[in-house]
Parts: sequence; structure tokens; C-alpha cells
Amino acid sequence: MSFKLIDLPYNYSALEPYIDAKTMEIHYTKHHGGYTNNLNKAIEGTPLDSMSIEDILKDVSKHSIAVRNNGGGFYNHNLFWSVMGPNAGGTPTGELADAISKHFGSFDAFKEKFSAAAATRFGSGWAWLVKKGDELVISSTPNQDNPLMDVADVKGTPIFGLDVWEHAYYLKYQNRRPEYIENFWKVVNWDEVARRYKQAK
Ligand code: MN
Repeated sequence: MSFKLIDLPYNYSALEPYIDAKTMEIHYTKHHGGYTNNLNKAIEGTPLDSMSIEDILKDVSKHSIAVRNNGGGFYNHNLFWSVMGPNAGGTPTGELADAISKHFGSFDAFKEKFSAAAATRFGSGWAWLVKKGDELVISSTPNQDNPLMDVADVKGTPIFGLDVWEHAYYLKYQNRRPEYIENFWKVVNWDEVARRYKQAK
């Protein structure tokens, strides 16, 4: 058994002008594709090759660094593509909106705190919205780590994440990570984030 690179749920140009087609194409085919292939190489012939990615990640400290980096990269990008979309943005509704207001005070306060977590992550990594028990919390992780991993500072179920590796924005934004983060809000697929929130409950 091996992990498959999922189909991108939209065209490379679908998130223009906020995320450019060239970045999407390279990010998906080369980076996500690379993590997927390297994960498969790292687990081939080991007991991990019959496990779910979630089960692999929850005990990641017991596995090789290749499994940690590529397993994280495989999972994180699956989540990332799904929480974006064309004709998206705006604000969440329903249960998720209520939970965000309850835990962060307001959607704007949440947005500010999440953006800060993404902007201040030093070097490569991710910002996350995490369902941790009954709480919703914001965290960030280095490299391709994520909140499912036993090595994460904040552990829980990631329901929303933002890739702040330079490969995610450098072609269009160069060193202007804050501008990339600001524009990211315009492509968030809140329906999918709400679905993940429900599923995590
Ligand atoms: Mn990436």
C-alpha cells in the first residue's frame, strides 16, 4: 500500500490573484508530490505501510526523521488545499463561527491572532487552528510538524492551517510574508473548515 497524491480540488489558476498559478503548480507537483513520494519510500517494507497517516503521525517520535518530515508534508498539504478555494473568503458561519467567537472574542480577534502566529513563525513552518479537547487554540509548528504529532507543543486535531514556507509565496510575494497572509484570508473555504470542526467533535 502507498499514499497517493490527492487531486488538487481546483485549477492552478483558481486562487489568482492571491495565489498565483505558477506557485500552485510547483507547490502541488514538486513539493507535495515530493513529500508523498518520499513518504512512500520511507515506509516501504515497514509496518507503517499498512497504517493511516494519522496513526503514523501520532507516534512520530518513534519513526525516522524522513517519516516525520514527509509524513507531515503529505498530511499538511492535503489539509491546506482543502481549506482554500475559488470564490471563497468571507467569514465562517454556524457552529464554527460560534466556537471562534467563544474562544477568541470575535472573528477579527481570531484573525489577528492567527495572522500573528503565521507571521512570527521563524523560518519554515505552519500556523494552525486546533481542536484541543473542548478548546479551540491557535498554534504554530516548525518545518512539516503538525498538532497530530506527539512532538508538537500543542497537540490536538488541526482543522485549519496556513503554510508559511517560502515555497508557498516567494514567487509572488518575495519576502512579504504578511501580505501573503493578508491575501490568504480571501481564499479560505470556511465550509470545509466547518466540516473539519464538526468531524473533530
Ligand atoms: Mn508547502
